[in-house]
Amino acid sequence: MTTRVPCPTCRRPVEWTPASAHRPFCSERCRLVDLGGWLAERHRIPDASGDALEGPHEPPLEPPEA
Ligand SMILES: [Zn+2]
Repeated sequence: MTTRVPCPTCRRPVEWTPASAHRPFCSERCRLVDLGGWLAERHRIPDASGDALEGPHEPPLEPPEA
């Protein structure tokens, strides 16, 4: 029995085998489409709010008084 997963881009079933080089995508084209969409999504996030979502930042260490 072969496991099949839906291509994240076009939803076509892809056989989960070493022969499917682009899995979980059905082809390199679908892989690039998904990657391009993901990058576009990230680029849309402004730097300021993206920084705030990364989690708590360590407070800067104060230099010891000499
Ligand atoms: Zn596809």
